[in-house]
Amino acid sequence: MVEACYNMQRPSKPLRFATFMVGERRLREDIVRFGRMVHERGFVAGMSGNLSVRLDHKRILVTPTCMSKGAMQPSDIVTVDMEGHRISGRHHVTSEIGMHLLIYRLRPDIKAVVHAHPPTATGFAAAGVALTQPLLCEVVIGLGCVPLARYGTPGTPELAATLEPFVREYDAILMSNHGVVAYGDTLEHAYMKMETVEHFAQIALVTHLLGRQQPLTDADLEKLLVARSKYAGAQSAAPMPIQAPDPKQSTKIQARSASATPPALQPKALSSRQRQ
Ligand SMILES: [Zn+2]
Repeated sequence: MVEACYNMQRPSKPLRFATFMVGERRLREDIVRFGRMVHERGFVAGMSGNLSVRLDHKRILVTPTCMSKGAMQPSDIVTVDMEGHRISGRHHVTSEIGMHLLIYRLRPDIKAVVHAHPPTATGFAAAGVALTQPLLCEVVIGLGCVPLARYGTPGTPELAATLEPFVREYDAILMSNHGVVAYGDTLEHAYMKMETVEHFAQIALVTHLLGRQQPLTDADLEKLLVARSKYAGAQSAAPMPIQAPDPKQSTKIQARSASATPPALQPKALSSRQRQ
């Protein structure tokens, strides 16, 4: 058996099968690990939230419905096809599978998706405020803007439809009156983006409490765009537009994308009271 496994002349079917199984097992363990982190950080409550990983070009590993993300076992993870039909697993798949499938379909570079309801970022989503202001240099470099998608009923195609205009251009999206979805080339990166969104929201909230914001200037942003291209942690196939904090500013920071920024993403102006 060992000889067969190390036969480099002609890889045996058992070797390929074993390699595949190890890979899948590790991905299941990763989903359990990051599910526990999402739960312990308070990004989800009860049985909410869902995580998935692209297993190959035909299959997705995804969390089951009606289960705490802090109490999953690798065997609880469900395998579905690219239409969301269950291939294997003893549980039903999350009702928000359509959102995951949309992201995998529109972004071939994406290998993992995390959806959660982190309290502060979800508070912004419930207040109808996008996280588009360039307040923090590291968020500009590593994540860019976090747009706000309109509300869509969970568990229906409407939810995925609300996200569709944003998925190609952004790596994290606020979902109105719902939560956040973040995605990346690994589950770890998708999770980190979720964590960054919540951290950014907390800091943005502090600026609101202080009644004052001091966004980075266009000149600062131009330099950060250069830095971003050299920053390994920010590598993504998706361009991440950065918007000028004030539409009246003379120099407009251009997205690296050839496509125009959707009007819905224009930064929401703070009220005069908030600007004071
Ligand atoms: Zn949700």
